[in-house]
Amino acid sequence: MNNKKELAPHIEDINRALNEKLSEEQIEEELQTYLDVYGVPLGTAKRAIVKKHEGDPGDLYVSTEKKIEDIQGDEQGLNLKARLVSLNDKEIEVEGEPKKINYGILGDDTGTIPFTAWEIFSFDVEKGDTISVQNAYANMWNDKPQVNISSKSSVSLIDPDEVPDFDSEAQPCKLEDLREGMNNLKVKARILQVEKKMVNTKNGEKELFSGTLADETGKAQFSAWYDFGLEEDDIVEIEGGYVRSWRGIPQFSFDDSAELEFLDDDELPPAEELREKTVMTISALAKRGGAVDAVVDAVMIDIKSGSGLIFRCPECGRVVQKGACRVHGKVEGDPDLRVKGILDDGTGALTVIANKELTEELLGYDLEKALDIAKDKMNQDVIQDELEDELIAQPLRTVGNVTSDEYGLMLIADEIQFKAVDVEEEARELLDEVRV
Ligand SMILES: [Zn+2]
Repeated sequence: MNNKKELAPHIEDINRALNEKLSEEQIEEELQTYLDVYGVPLGTAKRAIVKKHEGDPGDLYVSTEKKIEDIQGDEQGLNLKARLVSLNDKEIEVEGEPKKINYGILGDDTGTIPFTAWEIFSFDVEKGDTISVQNAYANMWNDKPQVNISSKSSVSLIDPDEVPDFDSEAQPCKLEDLREGMNNLKVKARILQVEKKMVNTKNGEKELFSGTLADETGKAQFSAWYDFGLEEDDIVEIEGGYVRSWRGIPQFSFDDSAELEFLDDDELPPAEELREKTVMTISALAKRGGAVDAVVDAVMIDIKSGSGLIFRCPECGRVVQKGACRVHGKVEGDPDLRVKGILDDGTGALTVIANKELTEELLGYDLEKALDIAKDKMNQDVIQDELEDELIAQPLRTVGNVTSDEYGLMLIADEIQFKAVDVEEEARELLDEVRV
């Protein structure tokens, strides 16, 4: 079957995925070697060639068969072979008529993905069966790719050997280890806070239950796209969750394809204890990409200009410089206080932002007084000078959400406290170091 004509679209496909780095002749030769000499299936061969030349197999477009990890959520004419990791059915309403559909999770040796079969499977099939799906499509649903099997798709049971063995069990994961892109996780946690909101999605308005959960290792924000009846203080085990990040903060998400079990109250420490914050190093925060309610013990090494008494554009809130907003021109700015500084804990550095209330606390007086002082001295920079005197080289304990972007980590402080240094302890540590 591997004649030149049949291979041509795939050669072009590889060529495109590799940005025409190789000649068509080179690709054809490599492809033939994989197919004829190694006896590798076409899809695998294409992926291998693209990977070998440092391309992304996800850029392959002409469908042979996609591996689950390569499904991006915009595919048409999608073919795959997968195991039914979970299989459920439910009744939905389509144009006022009840209709039964299947949904669940598909898995192969590269990962798992939720699916919906808009026509209920026409043959006997159960969890653990291996199926071949032709002409499905993928879209984004609850923020992650999903496979849709429609009336135009065909599905058949196939030999289990056609999909390599893989571990389809949800992987246990502690909250401190959550990373962007993780899938099919099993998490045991206590709900510290939960609220319901209505959100607008591409598929209309949906209920979202979100909040904070915690285990012995830390806290995380969560999003549940289904009403599991979660309440504050519940201990739950969630199987089949996934991680999406918001500005670097990993968020644990799950929907109705997840399995959720309520556990006894002694499975985790009490909420008050879990709420207590654990100190994180800046390098650990950088590795993770961000965190909610992080506690950082670090020294303030710099106060950036634009700290202290500032004036904001009443239209857009941008800081006014020399009486003008970058967007709105000359404006009468509203006074505000803030600190924009750099914290360093020896493992790394991050930008810390303190709002008006926190800055007032640090200064020991309010905005009114800051304005009076600046007027007296006829200089608005005096407040920033004072903050520098007060904060630079001071060890601080700062609590707040840490986000990340291309400029690095940013901690939006909820609390800043001067950290009393235990002089005796430090002396002892120093002595120990000298002795070593
Ligand atoms: Zn403005």
